[in-house]
Formats: sequence, structure tokens, C-alpha cells
Amino acid sequence: TKDSGRNNYHFFNEAMHQRVQDRLNILSYLHEGLSKRQFELYYQPKIDLATGRIIGAEALIRWHHPVRGLITPDDFIPVAEQSGLIEEMGTWVVEEACRYCKQCEELGLIESDFTMAVNISPVQFSRGAITEVVDEALKKNGLAAQRLELELTESLLIDNSASIKRALLQLRKLGVELAIDDFGTGYSNLGYLKAFQVGVLKIDRSFISKILEAEQSRILVEAIIQVASRLNIKVVAEGVESQQMAEALFVLGCDQAQGFHWTRPLNAMKFEKYMRDHQRE
Ligand code: C2E
Ligand code: CA
Ligand code: CA
Ligand code: CA
Repeated sequence: TKDSGRNNYHFFNEAMHQRVQDRLNILSYLHEGLSKRQFELYYQPKIDLATGRIIGAEALIRWHHPVRGLITPDDFIPVAEQSGLIEEMGTWVVEEACRYCKQCEELGLIESDFTMAVNISPVQFSRGAITEVVDEALKKNGLAAQRLELELTESLLIDNSASIKRALLQLRKLGVELAIDDFGTGYSNLGYLKAFQVGVLKIDRSFISKILEAEQSRILVEAIIQVASRLNIKVVAEGVESQQMAEALFVLGCDQAQGFHWTRPLNAMKFEKYMRDHQRE
């Protein structure tokens, strides 16, 4: 009826208003959160599927808001990106990940081939002086560039701008590894990967979660792995939740994986315990 239609409209408006209000609230809290150090990095181990060894970790940001509690990145990264605050936050993430990786090295928790992966927002990449930020964080902490891996989005390569290409090649020159995150969800062309000296491909969880049931997903994942291996690009599967999935991926030729099957992302203390419990010998 006319009435319910109007009600729906009203309701929709209110929901929208609420969403705008939420974003504004998040934004003002974000500023405060950065200055009050309410952010923390969690770490999720990456496993070599052939040997079961831990060969790296991905740093994932968490926000402990004093009133709202734990807020996950999907709820604030977009706001940080739209407001430009992502540069400051992203700089903190790179520095903290480097500092912590060095600490793990000094504690004897990681092996020589262990890498720390950090997510870099495309906004941060195109606006900030990313190479300087990375270079400084490495030097400040005495961390070898080979320890650091930057997880970038496909959209960055598609942009195909000269300044982004220059920055990527500079980072490679430093010795930092480049990975393409959420691979398969965008439009990337495997051909780009070589041109940009990308050494790692992370296949998105949306494909991985379906490989046991959907023939199509399995075929797609297998094709990606085959082309990548011919280009000498490592493949990492994200979102592996069972032994069965890990085995299927290994059979398809996938190199590395991470997911709840091994562990959820862990805070520093739990990550250190995990590393100790899974040390060889
Ligand atoms: P992502 O880079 O694709 O990260 C993987 C996400 O999958 C993480 O969610 C992780 O906790 C989750 N995950 C890992 N294993 C499993 C699994 O087996 N099953 C399921 N269902 N999920 C799994 P999280 O930590 O909530 O992060 C969400 C997204 O936020 C990330 O997606 C990344 O795009 C972004 N993000 C996280 N930390 C940062 C950061 O420091 N900087 C930037 N720019 N973005 C970040
Ligand atoms: Ca990632
Ligand atoms: Ca993903
Ligand atoms: Ca992502």
C-alpha cells in the first residue's frame, strides 16, 4: 500500500542517515585512536604446504576502541581511505610490522627465509611516499628488506600509471617482495605481474573456499597456479579452513597457504607461543 511504501522510504532514509553518522563517528574516533595508540597488529602464520614449515606471517590491523570494543579492519579501513587518514595509519602499520619482525628475529623465533607481509592500501600507495616509509622503517629497525613483503591490490597494477610503476620498481630495488592480494577478484592480467616484478600471488578466499565443491573454482585455481609457476611466481592460498582443502591445494601445486585450519590471526603474545610450539626439532 501507499502507507507501507512511505514507511519503507522513511526507513531507508533513516538507515542511510545512520550509516553516514556511523562513518562520521568512526572518523573522529580514528583520529583519537591513532594518537592514543588503540591499534594493534595481529599475525597469521603462512605455511609451506610441502614441508609444513612456517615461512612467514601476515600482519592484520585491529582496533581496540575503549567503548565499542574490538573493531575489524573492514569497518574502518574504507573510512581511513576516504579521509586520507590511511597514510598515517599505513605508516604506523609498516613501522610496527618491521619492529615486531626484528623482535621475533632477535628472539630466535623465525628462520632465515621467514617474511613478514603487510597490507598496503592502494590509496596509501598512490598518495604517500611509500618507498621512503618502507626504507625508513627497515633502516630504523635494522631489518633486512628481504624480510618484508607488501600485499598490494590488483587495481594498483591496472591503473598502469608511470608513478606507481616507478614506486614498485624502487621497492623491488630495495629488496622488498611484492605480492598481489585477493587475486582473481579484479581484472588483472597475469602479464602485468612480470612487468611489475611481482613475485607472489595470493588467491582470494572466495575461490579457495569453493575448490572442494565447485569444479569451476578448482579449474580456475589450477590454471592460475600453472601460469604463475611458469612465470616463476609463488602462489599463496588464503582462507584455508581444513586439512582436505590444504591437501587439494598441494595437489594443485600451490606453494603456501594460511587460514583457520592452522590458526586465526594472533596477537603478539599468542603468535610467539605459536612459533615456539611449532619450532622444528
Ligand atoms: P585480506 O588482506 O584478504 O586478509 C585476509 C582476511 O581473511 C583477514 O581478515 C583474516 O583474518 C581472514 N582470514 C584468514 N584466514 C581465514 C580463514 O581460514 N577463514 C576466514 N573466513 N577468514 C580468514 P581481517 O583481519 O578482518 O582483514 C580484512 C581485510 O582488511 C584484509 O583482507 C585487508 O584487505 C584489510 N586489512 C587488514 N589489515 C590491514 C592493514 O594493516 N592495512 C590495510 N591497508 N588493510 C588491512
Ligand atoms: Ca592481505
Ligand atoms: Ca582476501
Ligand atoms: Ca584485501
